[in-house]
Amino acid sequence: MGIIEKLKEMLRDGEVTPEKVKKFIDMVPPYQEDKNDPAFLTGKELDEVRNRNLRVQMELCAKYSPYYHELFKECGIDAPSIKTIDDLEKLPLTTKLDYMKNPEAFKLKLDLTRPFYELILWDLTMTTGTTTGIPSIFWNTTHDFYAQTLFFIRSSKISWAVPGEDITFNAFPLGPIPHMAYIRTLTASLAAGCAVVAGHTGMPHPDFPIHRRLDDAIKLMEAYKCTAALGIASYMRRFVMRAQEIGADFSHVRGIHALGEPCPKGMRDDMTRRLEELGADSPTIGNAYGFTECQGAFPECAELAGCHNPDPSLYFIEVVNPETGERLAEGEQGHVAVTHINRRGTVLLRYLLGDIGKVTYEPCPYCGRTSERMMPISGSIYSTRTKELVKLKGTLINPGLLMDAIENIGGIVEYQVVFTKVDPSDPYSLDKLVIRVAPTGEIPSEKLKASITEAVLKAAEMRPEIQFVSSPFEIFDPRQSLKATRILDQRPVMK
Ligand SMILES: [Zn+2]
Repeated sequence: MGIIEKLKEMLRDGEVTPEKVKKFIDMVPPYQEDKNDPAFLTGKELDEVRNRNLRVQMELCAKYSPYYHELFKECGIDAPSIKTIDDLEKLPLTTKLDYMKNPEAFKLKLDLTRPFYELILWDLTMTTGTTTGIPSIFWNTTHDFYAQTLFFIRSSKISWAVPGEDITFNAFPLGPIPHMAYIRTLTASLAAGCAVVAGHTGMPHPDFPIHRRLDDAIKLMEAYKCTAALGIASYMRRFVMRAQEIGADFSHVRGIHALGEPCPKGMRDDMTRRLEELGADSPTIGNAYGFTECQGAFPECAELAGCHNPDPSLYFIEVVNPETGERLAEGEQGHVAVTHINRRGTVLLRYLLGDIGKVTYEPCPYCGRTSERMMPISGSIYSTRTKELVKLKGTLINPGLLMDAIENIGGIVEYQVVFTKVDPSDPYSLDKLVIRVAPTGEIPSEKLKASITEAVLKAAEMRPEIQFVSSPFEIFDPRQSLKATRILDQRPVMK
């Protein structure tokens, strides 16, 4: 019996316990040999490892980071005085704007006395969604790439990947920007010792016919009997729905990592059911907290158990008040900041990721890991973009809550939340909340309309107008865009 079969047997009751995790690790040689996994250290041991790395990182930043060298001078910060993770509070926060202004200023300019591995630029990825429209570069040296490879062995361990048996399907599109998700899904699979197949869907290029159609990608995944697929959450759902339409055999699929955006419980259950209809045996749908600045993702060990930092010796996450820079108490909701504590290419300290989230440093009751976990902020959603907090009819509403409420209803193929005006030609008319819905059935039911109205009323404290559309493509066309636009603000910008 292979390890996957044994694992299925062990997790048949759905319970994840520290004992089962230990048993699993002992079954898989690369995991078993990783004796120094910092995610299992005691709190005190972990602090020591982190503080040691932080001190080196601070010294390097003071000496070699053009941005932090200047900042420390300007603010009168004595780098050697930042000795512990707690001392970080003395440092100002770094914003996306600071980084985007000059990404190169965050790359360490090491001199030739440094080790070879630190001096070699291995690769780079770019971040999308900048306000200027120009992607920012994030550089990795060989040191960083090796560190990241170990990070991926550890993250694969958290998400129960089995080296030598699992075959990953990379469903991230092949796009014009070297995005972290596409590149690192390959890196991560290879790091873990898993085979990997890529769909190469995406926006066609006029001269280079290199992209595959969705149906061809599905057939490729079926032909290789891939056991796991990784992709953008809303895209993966459409991927599975299309697989149902063309009658694909997904009996080999263990699970889907629905990434890049929230994947609420209702959406997970919907996808699980569809995978079961495609022949999968007890499949799981995982969500994770991924960001370019960690070149990967923090995965879950069990559904909604929190997104675990796979390697706390590389990254430290804190939740802060963006105005004062103060660290918030554990479990409080605020702005998420990451600090690199063992990097040599691009290095960021107390960098605001642009997300509202919650963190816990308590050991995970499911797997026993002691590294920090991002916890759900509302319902089953881990984070919401800061820019997505919107004011409607004078009330600040959280679209994350709204999305969670709608996703949990069922009977919906696609939906979109639209903020608009009662009279679109009059910018000063009242705000209006519209929910566009592509229902599962042919004819939208009054019952569905009532359920959506009630859920929205509860989540946003206002009555929406429900508009049914006849095709899900009217809301999200995977051939045109990477992600479904769940929130659309059509109101004119007030000057
Ligand atoms: Zn856990």
